Amino acid sequence: FHGRHVTPQIYADLDGNNWHLADYEARGGYQALRKILAQGEGVGMTPDQVIAEVKASGLRGRGGAGFPTGLKWSFMPRALPVQKYLVCNSDEGEPGTCKDRDILRFNPHSVIEGMIIAAYAMGITVGYNYIHGEIFEVYDRFEEALREARAAGYLGNNILGSSHTFQLHAHHGFGAYICGEETALLESLEGKKGQPRFKPPFPASFGLYGKPTTINNTETFGAVPWIIRNGGAAYLACGKPNNGGTKIFSMVGDVERPGNYEIPLGTSFAQLLEMAGGVRGGRKLKAVIPGGSSAPVLPAHIMMDITMDYDAISKAGSMLGSGAVIVMDETRCMVKSLQRLSYFYSHESCGQCTPCREGTGWLWRMVDRIENGHGRPDDLALLDNVAENIMGRTICALGDAAAMPVRGMLKHFRDEFVHHIEHKRCIVPAYV
Ligand code: SF4
Repeated sequence: FHGRHVTPQIYADLDGNNWHLADYEARGGYQALRKILAQGEGVGMTPDQVIAEVKASGLRGRGGAGFPTGLKWSFMPRALPVQKYLVCNSDEGEPGTCKDRDILRFNPHSVIEGMIIAAYAMGITVGYNYIHGEIFEVYDRFEEALREARAAGYLGNNILGSSHTFQLHAHHGFGAYICGEETALLESLEGKKGQPRFKPPFPASFGLYGKPTTINNTETFGAVPWIIRNGGAAYLACGKPNNGGTKIFSMVGDVERPGNYEIPLGTSFAQLLEMAGGVRGGRKLKAVIPGGSSAPVLPAHIMMDITMDYDAISKAGSMLGSGAVIVMDETRCMVKSLQRLSYFYSHESCGQCTPCREGTGWLWRMVDRIENGHGRPDDLALLDNVAENIMGRTICALGDAAAMPVRGMLKHFRDEFVHHIEHKRCIVPAYV
């Protein structure tokens, strides 16, 4: 975990064994919780004040969708006299993304404190953290952090002597990519096969066990204590309007120092690339997938001119997504890259809807034959057509996630695909 820790209370002290409760408290941990639950005249914060502060921070969901967090919290029907649930989505599986596991590994109490505060704001008494199935030591560490928080009175009945009660549990998934989709995650949490639900109804009204549920990403919850301690305006000021605060980017691929980097939203890509040591081996930058494998690829000349925030990346024709920045140097073959991505989505499709189940397989088989020198002259038109017919015609976003990389590659690197089909080999010169 590298990076510039602009909001050090969130992701501080990343070395050694200092993730325990005592270390977190020494860094000011649980002060935000104490602040909102303080009893007496003129102190403490009401749930509405907490939500207003989160809205003022401009915090947007860090899992991929970028939905405003405070607004999402305001959808919870707080006064409804039914059981309500809070869920943390730590089922990080997007290729290239590796930030949530590091937050849980190095600063698990920031997520726990953020969830307790969120539960207070929405009148929720039970929560779950759904952790990706393939990361075992992170799950164990989070369980240990939960034990510490319970023993210290931060979790359980009447937290810190207040009327706020919150029980939080960890749940270990089984590694399916689709369980990162929020309704598939809920199905899995209920003990069923992890397949997305039709929406509406949305989880805010029909979520876990059919009850109102709010789901946020690990990084989103991790940002909440800092916002409450320092104020929403201070967090917003770390970033830029409509893109408040800092964001962790997982720099992966052809860079000298791959890892997680926390930077203010609005920082230029050129600066981020420099922090990561530049392109590996001093080679030229060819392309970047700026937001996890589902985001369309952007060529170097566009990337070097844009800033890393939701609005700028979307204006450039891609998306910030989960914050995985896949850097590709001049030696990368785009056909080969798309072949791997297409295989991933075909493999991870849950199979419920035909355009995704069949379409992702077609995409992969077509790209695979182009890569292997068996491409046909009409394959590119067919690729376009299949991608077009998947988009917007599926239950969840996995169908779009499979189609968008294809469209991005064909838009910016069509010549490489044409060359593969016409010459039965790669346009990229062979490097040793
Ligand atoms: Fe399943 Fe794909 Fe349909 Fe999503 S889009 S529900 S992954 S078949």
